[in-house]
Amino acid sequence: MKLLPEVLAAREEIQSIRRTIHAHPEIRYEEVRTADLVARRLEQWGIEVHRSLGKTGVVGILKRGTGTRAVGLRADMDALPIHELNSFGHRSQIDGRMHACGHDGHTAMLLGAAQYLAKHGEFDGTIVFIFQPAEEGGAGARAMIEDGLFAKFPVDAVFGIHNWPGLPEGTFGVTEGPLMASSNEFRIDIKGIGAHAAMPHNGRDPVFAAVQIANALQSIITRSKKPIETAVLSVTQIHAGDTVNVIPDVAWLAGTVRTFTTATLDLIESKMRKIAEATAAAYECAVDVSFNRNYPPTVNSPEETRFAAEVMREVVGPENVSTAVEPTMGAEDFAFMLLAKPGCYAFLGNGDGEHRATGHGAGPCMLHNPSYDFNDELLPIGSTYWVRLAQRYLALPQAK
Ligand SMILES: [Zn+2]
Ligand SMILES: [Zn+2]
Repeated sequence: MKLLPEVLAAREEIQSIRRTIHAHPEIRYEEVRTADLVARRLEQWGIEVHRSLGKTGVVGILKRGTGTRAVGLRADMDALPIHELNSFGHRSQIDGRMHACGHDGHTAMLLGAAQYLAKHGEFDGTIVFIFQPAEEGGAGARAMIEDGLFAKFPVDAVFGIHNWPGLPEGTFGVTEGPLMASSNEFRIDIKGIGAHAAMPHNGRDPVFAAVQIANALQSIITRSKKPIETAVLSVTQIHAGDTVNVIPDVAWLAGTVRTFTTATLDLIESKMRKIAEATAAAYECAVDVSFNRNYPPTVNSPEETRFAAEVMREVVGPENVSTAVEPTMGAEDFAFMLLAKPGCYAFLGNGDGEHRATGHGAGPCMLHNPSYDFNDELLPIGSTYWVRLAQRYLALPQAK
């Protein structure tokens, strides 16, 4: 492992920032204290700061030399509405709020890199440090882009990291193409005609129609999409009625759809509408389908991914880098940045959980678990990766 000595020397300082953020978690678009901490540190190190992009986002600009290349490095700052079960000193001081996804660590790793680059970094070009709000369901990346992130601060490519429990500590996992899925939710409302349960012929049973629709939707996954295209459709709620001897007027079902491509998502949504409408019609019920596309798939561009993997190999050694990590059906709003710019999102192994307080059971403590904690051993690794990635990216030959 080749970690920068100055980054290692700043380890205690960056760890203390990480733990301060952990102790004061703020959920989506409420990251006021965190954004202020980030902005003040960047300013303290002589970095130009722009606040309030995408409501609570912060951008830092560091420019050297005459180079026209620019690179974006992104961290997320928000916490989750979870009550922390850990008992260590830096546990959340706010009931019902917790950094259970490690965004405290992502922010600290990028701050560590910003400090190094401002004080010691040699490079030629512009580094755009992006601290985004509201990754957890608030599309903070999209909010920053809509607020002019890339128009005001153009970059040639953008990069991101997420810590990943279960991957060995300090190893990198990445893949070209889709790494994380699109996240979408649907709700299907069925309107029938209620009746006495003993005289169903007098009504139009929406419960029966709902169950037929729930079953038929699975045929899209097994019969309609190409078998080699990955997708999942889960009906997670069916609601109807409140009395055993009454057929209700209405029923509704809801759930989630995840895909790695927009083409597959288009197909699934259109088939869902056809099945819901035709099935409801067959049972003489009315139907209303609402389908919301939350996050698109996170798709890594090949060239930037191969470049990022070279930097990972330099930092942690080739034996600690997988370029064929298994994609996850989880979703990530860095996807919006990758729709706007080429780039690469990577996983950094958070280890198996032994460094945390017990209470999460056997095996790795997964993200969004009330016993989770970001592994501080990753701080100098992530910061070194960011530094070397920025320096090497800006030193690449000018794009055509
Ligand atoms: Zn999360
Ligand atoms: Zn996360």
